[in-house]
Amino acid sequence: MGAGAPRNPHALPTKTCPVCGRAFVWRKKWERDWPTVIYCSERCRRNPPRALARGPKGGAS
Ligand SMILES: [Zn+2]
Repeated sequence: MGAGAPRNPHALPTKTCPVCGRAFVWRKKWERDWPTVIYCSERCRRNPPRALARGPKGGAS
């Protein structure tokens, strides 16, 4: 039996999270934000990869 990639029953769009590298599926809560959704979860969103880590922080200069 060679089932390749698992199919999702609703054929929802998927993206790959740059942080954990896992694919995630469209969710209802992203209905309006899907084009701008990058990370699979809030957790990954807070831990962006270095390449994307722009520090909006640094206020003390
Ligand atoms: Zn992730």
